[in-house]
Amino acid sequence: MRLKRLETFHNEFVCFVKATAEDGVVGWGQTSTYNADITAQVFHRQIVPWALGQDVTDIPALVSRIERAEHKFPGSYRNRALAGLDTALWDMEGQRSGLPVAALIGGTAGPVRAYASSMRRDLTPEEEAERLKRICGEQGFTAAKFRIGAEMGEGRDQWPGRTEAIIPAVTRALPGIETLVDANSGFTVARAIEVGHILQDNGVGHYEEPVPWWDLDATKAVADALEVDVTGGEQDVDTGIFARIIRDRVVDVVQPDVMYLGGLTKTLQVAEMAALAGLPVTPHAANLGLVTMATMHLLRALPNAGKYLEFSIEGEDYYPWQRELFLGDPFRVRDGHLAVTGAPGWGLTVNPDWLAKAEYRDSDQAEQTAYAALYHRTLDAQL
Ligand SMILES: [Mg+2]
Repeated sequence: MRLKRLETFHNEFVCFVKATAEDGVVGWGQTSTYNADITAQVFHRQIVPWALGQDVTDIPALVSRIERAEHKFPGSYRNRALAGLDTALWDMEGQRSGLPVAALIGGTAGPVRAYASSMRRDLTPEEEAERLKRICGEQGFTAAKFRIGAEMGEGRDQWPGRTEAIIPAVTRALPGIETLVDANSGFTVARAIEVGHILQDNGVGHYEEPVPWWDLDATKAVADALEVDVTGGEQDVDTGIFARIIRDRVVDVVQPDVMYLGGLTKTLQVAEMAALAGLPVTPHAANLGLVTMATMHLLRALPNAGKYLEFSIEGEDYYPWQRELFLGDPFRVRDGHLAVTGAPGWGLTVNPDWLAKAEYRDSDQAEQTAYAALYHRTLDAQL
């Protein structure tokens, strides 16, 4: 079954991908969010030419072909764009078979436990504690994450004393609720260990990205010094780096982002490496685009799924671009859980009104077709 056509619909924040096979079956995917206009350009330049005309029933083989073809471009944008193709093809496979993606990868439809994930550092400790208490009470979350330190802060706090104040403020406001923190690469090793002891004294169970994420030795030093689970991996897009993170036990919990990493296929590869090492996977999913739904399907299938889904509690006032991406209410929370339904593919319908306002590009355009033909002659000689 060959891939016939790829279309994109984008604004600055989101880019949806529509993939059509020669049998007319359509799958919808999405590239990773933010700078999605740039990602759409990368998609048409570096993903589409390798994908058109290829077999869509072996998604890992096609992902591998593209990674080999674009091996000089191993970084973020290529993977963000690749995620658009990968997620569209998984949806297409679900549409063709009538199954949710979770079932295609060994899982089932059903509930997913979520944690309430705060993205904010501008709130005072008291404000954040009160907010999380209210949201957990209203929506039934049994776990919640808050922010400590300052993003990439080099050891400085968001303001002096905030970290020391917010840890007890939130944990005391949430009795019986599991607490997680994210330092967003904010600390030095010494400071990270110091803060880690405060976390342990207050019963926090998950300590995310304590030091600059790319410094695996520093992360391991923090993990080795503490009992609390040190977690990370959301920025990493190289499966070779993940292999090292897992082999060396740099973290206790592995956190790939399905969309940053390049799609479901590569995330499954990372999750399998983690499973072989006995490590759980709690993916990063920081907005209510496709990343959260793809992560829900993944968590319904992984034998080493972490305890919960990251669920952003920041609404459309904080992320206006999340407004009306999908029809219905696919991210409804009930009793602290979301649901993977039995609907085929991702179980999502992209909002036609959103698509109508987006910028459009079609792989069938003559210029694109000529470009693809040139690429294919080169590729078929190489691979
Ligand atoms: Mg994080």
